[in-house]
Amino acid sequence: MSAAVEFAVKHLKVDTLLVLGHAQCGGVKAALEQRPRDPSSFLDAWIGLLDPAKARIGACSDEHQPALEYESIRVTLENLATFPFVAEAVRDRGLKLGGARYGVADGGLEVLDPATGAFKAVV
Ligand SMILES: [Zn+2]
Repeated sequence: MSAAVEFAVKHLKVDTLLVLGHAQCGGVKAALEQRPRDPSSFLDAWIGLLDPAKARIGACSDEHQPALEYESIRVTLENLATFPFVAEAVRDRGLKLGGARYGVADGGLEVLDPATGAFKAVV
């Protein structure tokens, strides 16, 4: 994943990186499960990337799934901004970072407003 982002930013010189999360996300659901993680599992390592988002909102049960989906998008954007080639492209050529959440069941799209940090329905 990180290699694909690096290629897109450094070589394709994309204008925008869009982190597109989605409702009813199985990865987010798995992150909410209280179970030990296997240190040799790539899936568990990936799910562990959501730990900062979980901690930030105090997510611990299924009812927190939508909130964790939103917060995971915010945390992913923050993580992307720490990649040196992303920070450089933001600074030098105005690369934009955006977040959105797709409603799998209803087809709705919510876009993160960077000014308020809130998601707003656009479709
Ligand atoms: Zn998912």
